[in-house]
Amino acid sequence: MEGGKLIIFSAPSGSGKTTIVRHLLEQPELNLAFSVSATSRPRRGKEKNGEHYYFMTVSEFKKHIKNDDFLEWEEVYRDNFYGTLKTEVERLWAEGKNVIFDIDVVGGLRIKKKYPEETLAVFVKPPSVDELKIRLKKRSTESDNKINMRIAKASVELATAPQFDKIIKNYDLDTALEEAHQLVADFVGVTKRSKKGE
Ligand code: 5GP
Repeated sequence: MEGGKLIIFSAPSGSGKTTIVRHLLEQPELNLAFSVSATSRPRRGKEKNGEHYYFMTVSEFKKHIKNDDFLEWEEVYRDNFYGTLKTEVERLWAEGKNVIFDIDVVGGLRIKKKYPEETLAVFVKPPSVDELKIRLKKRSTESDNKINMRIAKASVELATAPQFDKIIKNYDLDTALEEAHQLVADFVGVTKRSKKGE
């Protein structure tokens, strides 16, 4: 596989990485396209198949694992598999795009290892684990049990931050968005427009 750049945003669930990734996708000069992951977790709220995820059953997912269709995959939570299909990255590179990922820390680091030169791996740090809990509860799309599972995982994920190329502290969202935009612009080799000009 060869093509454009790979931009990875990894973070504990609730850190704000999805908001950052969406913001970056709106910047035309970055020429980004979102890598839609495959998952076996149930659909949440207004999520659409093929847009947020390729939703599939556990057995469909396992079939793809067997066929070696994934660039990386992970059982992020029990029976909730997530993975990046090779065909997804190939498709976006063929369109001349830089590919941006919203994936978990293990998957992110795996892609970085496979494509060290082409990849910018960014870790988004929440202010604290307590703040993370508040954000996940506010989102209220999941049961307390699921939220607790995500919190438990967050502490482990936070320990991996030093392995990433860059760390963004998401204490203030506007600052984090600005910082993320600058980092990606530098990496893909374009000039970020000044704030006044926006
Ligand atoms: P959520 O269920 O909140 O959409 O995602 C749960 C976690 O799985 C998040 O940390 C998300 O970034 C991660 N994730 C989403 N897609 C992938 C993927 O393709 N591979 C890996 N390894 N993790 C993913």
